[in-house]
Amino acid sequence: MTLPLRPDLEGLKPYGAPQLDVEARLNVNENPYLPPDSVVDSIATAVRKAASSLNRYPDRDAEGLRGDLAAYLASESDADFLRTENLWAANGSNEVMLHLHQAFGGPGRKVLSFAPTYSMYPEYARDTLTEYVTFPRSDDFTLDVDAAVAAIAEVQPSMVIVASPNNPTGTALPLDHTVALLEAADKVEAGCLVVVDEAYAEFRHVGVPSALSLLPTQPNLVVSRTMSKAFAMAGGRLGYLAASAEIVDALQIVRLPYHLSAVTQATARAALAHARELQAQVAEIRAERDDTVAWLTAQGYTVADTDANFALFGPFEDREKVFEGLLERGVLIRVTGPEGWLRVSIGTPQEMALFRSALLEVTA
Ligand code: PMP
Repeated sequence: MTLPLRPDLEGLKPYGAPQLDVEARLNVNENPYLPPDSVVDSIATAVRKAASSLNRYPDRDAEGLRGDLAAYLASESDADFLRTENLWAANGSNEVMLHLHQAFGGPGRKVLSFAPTYSMYPEYARDTLTEYVTFPRSDDFTLDVDAAVAAIAEVQPSMVIVASPNNPTGTALPLDHTVALLEAADKVEAGCLVVVDEAYAEFRHVGVPSALSLLPTQPNLVVSRTMSKAFAMAGGRLGYLAASAEIVDALQIVRLPYHLSAVTQATARAALAHARELQAQVAEIRAERDDTVAWLTAQGYTVADTDANFALFGPFEDREKVFEGLLERGVLIRVTGPEGWLRVSIGTPQEMALFRSALLEVTA
């Protein structure tokens, strides 16, 4: 039998980093802290209630959850102008991004991003038959904004995607750069959205603004977020975005009916009710991040400026060897970014102590 697989998918491997049971799992930018007991209890109660009516399909529009997300963004980023109709939610920001590509990408269209960046971006494009185009970032991983503006004029994309903080570099995008991208996107004749992927926004340094503040004046802006990182809920699979009601309406067209299970909605809403409490963990991770960057720098490494819960550092002549050496010592990090660099997610103080001692041994 000939498997009628799309020719462009032939020989490809599914995306995914190793899931290994080692002492320090620092490879996929998870929150290292367990959800607090109070959160676990609230989720269990909410899921029990949801379970009692699982014979019915869930709220297809996830109205309650989207309202809670709007309230969360109002408190986290002063985005008190957001209403339920401005929020969209799906199973992780991965699915949010896929919805964006389904609605605003497609055959004959292009998505533009700036490398190095999140390795799923080309996959959303591939899966929706959208052309994925990248332009390089500067050597320090910031965006060369003039080059980016020129790239938008040249490529005429239907979407520009920029992660801020960027993965794997940690680089935040200054607001004036976002505005410059939006102005360039405005000039694309067929229309162009600027998607700022703020999966790691909650870890940004004090004073670094979120692109959310631009939403009231920028109709082609989309800001994507997730509960996977700051909310310690990577396993709950809840991502969301904020945008104009028109953009959210367009996403409703391509979503599968009932794409967010009643269990997922209940879990996310229960966790959102503990947002303030969970911020304490975020503060610890940010402090540990700054300590890790300072330590790596003191060891003589170059560390990319990071507003996220990970750090990209190097250079290493043989980064695979360092990765393997760390793994032998129970520390799993990520070989990613340009040749010679490695990325470590920020773990608990104990995990980071193990990372530091293992790195010293491996590079001795
Ligand atoms: N955007 C970026 C930049 C990411 O790094 C990730 C996860 N690693 C995601 C989106 C997707 O996260 P999730 O689907 O868990 O929300």
